[in-house]
Amino acid sequence: MDRGPSTVGTVYDIQGFSVQDGPGIRTTVFLKGCPLRCPWCHSPESQRFHIQLSWQRSKCVGTQECGLCLDRCPKSAISAAGSEPVDPAGNDAAGGGAVATIDVDWSRCDDCGVCAEVCPAGALSMWGKRQTVQEVLERVVKDRPFFERSGGGVTISGGEPLSQADFTLALLAALKQAGLHTALDTTGYAPWAVVEETLPYTDLYLLDLKAVDPDAHRAATGVDNAPIFESARALAARGARMQVRIPLIPRFNDGRETVQEMGRFVSSLGPAVTVVQLLPYHAMGVSKWDRIRPQGPVFEAQTIPEDRVAGLKAVLEQWGLSVQVH
Ligand code: SF4
Ligand code: SF4
Repeated sequence: MDRGPSTVGTVYDIQGFSVQDGPGIRTTVFLKGCPLRCPWCHSPESQRFHIQLSWQRSKCVGTQECGLCLDRCPKSAISAAGSEPVDPAGNDAAGGGAVATIDVDWSRCDDCGVCAEVCPAGALSMWGKRQTVQEVLERVVKDRPFFERSGGGVTISGGEPLSQADFTLALLAALKQAGLHTALDTTGYAPWAVVEETLPYTDLYLLDLKAVDPDAHRAATGVDNAPIFESARALAARGARMQVRIPLIPRFNDGRETVQEMGRFVSSLGPAVTVVQLLPYHAMGVSKWDRIRPQGPVFEAQTIPEDRVAGLKAVLEQWGLSVQVH
């Protein structure tokens, strides 16, 4: 099993200057692929494990000006579209107005990437890139001065990083060897044997919990929550430090009873949990669905009013938990 600097993983983004993914200023490495299918996911481009095409109409300069992708697709998935307003706000590459762009027939596309190679505007691009641990390490250590000044470090997120276990373990080990603070943003949905191996290299776990009720969890995410709760209990028993993150989703887990159950469970983990972060639903992911292969109805809901969030925060605090709203 290869777990060294040459171990390869599928990374879909590396973002510096994050202040939401653990202490201090952090660089977050996002890995592709997740076994859960949360309909409210704000990064749907992270769900599939393979590298996939992204089509962003607002960036296309138009087939009149460019047209380089036409006739390039081996699957005949790209065709010229009629003129249409690209972005009334004028944020498109062509400067607003009506531009003749293209259509992608997703039923034909096999994500080969040929069209993305020729697109000069980045309108056609690929989500995901195969990278070695060494390549990722070389990128993130550039941010070391920011980590040192702020008490920050590197967070591995996703997708679900534990689904690329060899890569995640090799990267965590390399980061520790480089003397960097490490955080692992995980659903906890992985065999305990895998989670356990991360313990020597992980300073902080950012554990995402969605629902205590197994049926509700399975109906929404497609997977059983028993392994998640097993991971949480076992991490607590081993003295791991955890921040628990709860996405507050309208009509799913924003009822007082549901939050009560969550508070009961999280408080049972004891002092391992340093803070609970409530993450009220926002619709940021909705527009991203347009850029990838359509996958069925997109979840849309109203943002939960602030006073209601404050009430749910108070419910958690009654369990003696330190709670932040993000
Ligand atoms: S990624 Fe899809 S649309 Fe682009 S060339 Fe390949 S098959 Fe055609
Ligand atoms: S290559 Fe890119 S910019 Fe050019 S027409 Fe195709 S999508 Fe638009």
